[in-house]
Amino acid sequence: MSKKIVIAIDGPAGSGKSTAAKNLAERLGLVYVDTGAMYRAITYAAIRKGIADDEKAVIELAKSIKIRLKFVDGLTRVFVNGEEVTEKIRTSEVNEKVSGISKIPEVRAELVKIQRKLGEEGNLIAEGRDTTTVVFPDADLKIFLTASIDERARRRYKEFVEKGVQISLEEVKANLEKRDKMDSEREVSPLKKADDAIVFDNTHTSIADEIEILLKKINAAAK
Ligand code: C5P
Repeated sequence: MSKKIVIAIDGPAGSGKSTAAKNLAERLGLVYVDTGAMYRAITYAAIRKGIADDEKAVIELAKSIKIRLKFVDGLTRVFVNGEEVTEKIRTSEVNEKVSGISKIPEVRAELVKIQRKLGEEGNLIAEGRDTTTVVFPDADLKIFLTASIDERARRRYKEFVEKGVQISLEEVKANLEKRDKMDSEREVSPLKKADDAIVFDNTHTSIADEIEILLKKINAAAK
């Protein structure tokens, strides 16, 4: 691809945004920005400091924390003030708190600043809840990924089982529903489809087929 492009993907929890973005980044040699990992990193740091429910303290933390994402061999490694937290940000404890922290406007402002800075170079694929609507409204291609709640819960449950985490499918589904509701109903940058985004429901689509379809759309957008 000759043109420097920016691709943005939004969608609810468990819709396969990370899987799609990682695959596309590898296939196209793009920088992959997992914005959810940034919200998770702040949440993890706040829980560890015991301040997750103290909004003022969380805002202070967001202003001082150094978050770095490193995309190596298909895995996004996440660092908070130099410490690797890649695994630690994917716990059910973080899942419980992250939507509450990500609705704080000052926290979002800090992270959006970092995300836009990464976007200045172009050749990037970003995914999250507001990358098509707020962070990169001028992206070359905007994708809204979705899938049924049962399929999304099954995917997240499988990931937990593979990691040996004791959790029920019902608990996973309840957390997804709660996060979807909070993410969609919050005042600042709610999860919603951008007017000019393409919608892709992958409930019944294999990852391989999805990637082929999206590659065609990206190639058309990059012309
Ligand atoms: O994508 P992931 O499930 O890792 O995101 C975790 C949470 O971070 C979401 O449920 C949402 O509350 C928040 N988030 C956000 N804006 C983004 C990305 C994630 O508010 N751009």
